[in-house]
Amino acid sequence: MGTGASVKFTFLKLLTGSDLSIRRLPFMVADSGAEGPVLWLTACCHGDEVGGMVIIQEIFKKIRKNNLLTAGSLYSFPLMNPIGFETGSRRITFSREDLNRLFPGDPRGTLGERIANTIFTAILKTKPALVIDLHNDWIKSIPYALIDTEPESGDLKIHATTTEFALETGFPVIRDTERLQCTLPFTLRANDIPSFTLELGESYIVNEKNIEYGVQSVENIMSMLGMTIPAKNEHPYPLPGILRGKILDYSSKPSSSTTGIVRFLSKPGDIVREGKAFAGIYNVFGKRRETMRSTCDALVLGHNDTSVSFPGMPVMAFGTF
Ligand SMILES: [Zn+2]
Repeated sequence: MGTGASVKFTFLKLLTGSDLSIRRLPFMVADSGAEGPVLWLTACCHGDEVGGMVIIQEIFKKIRKNNLLTAGSLYSFPLMNPIGFETGSRRITFSREDLNRLFPGDPRGTLGERIANTIFTAILKTKPALVIDLHNDWIKSIPYALIDTEPESGDLKIHATTTEFALETGFPVIRDTERLQCTLPFTLRANDIPSFTLELGESYIVNEKNIEYGVQSVENIMSMLGMTIPAKNEHPYPLPGILRGKILDYSSKPSSSTTGIVRFLSKPGDIVREGKAFAGIYNVFGKRRETMRSTCDALVLGHNDTSVSFPGMPVMAFGTF
């Protein structure tokens, strides 16, 4: 200890471009030199979700300048979808694929499946204790930890461990209710590796407050894993007392039944009780056509990026309890 971790920035090859340029996957490694667990941070799987990259940069800065890492290793793919990032697109622009629906990928598959396979194989090889995948959500949304539905195969203990890690972030912990089989965290857990997603506010731009929250939550996890000198376990995010230690279920219901303009009556972070009006939908002449009410007690995670509504459109996302 005291000598500082060795930090390396390198690349894995993705493909050769039409101009013969090599497209690469940036890869960051910090090795404390002392025995300990492997933690992975991954980001920008959706090209327009840029905040996670900055959280990773800040953690590596702290490792280099403040000797944050004292045991184990931290690995990172800060930019999993460089093609989407450069073109402001969630998807891999060339093939229009959503990279986070393609894991574990296939070395002989589509472009997206090949990229997914390069990522997945590299992560698996290091036998990580935990993989945190950093994402962003609607423009108006609060940070939360998202746990995928339980895989059918794999060790059940992994689910409990994943939940413990997610609670340590200090954010609301939300269990997904839609079964997305091929996300990175779902596929890792099916391979007995604890993994969850952090959804940290808006896409497209860096939200500094959410960067602070994200860095602190990663530090909490590193401390829990024994990778740092256990100092602080601050939860800077103002989690309402009644939500501490709770797992909430994700819901974007009820959806609207009317075409019109939405006026939001609740904001992200509010707790709405069953029956509370959370949005009104108005027609072009200003007449209220629909009042949307919460169907149970819930935490408002965020509201849609648009105030245009059509029948069947999600208006708000909730963590229900
Ligand atoms: Zn995402």
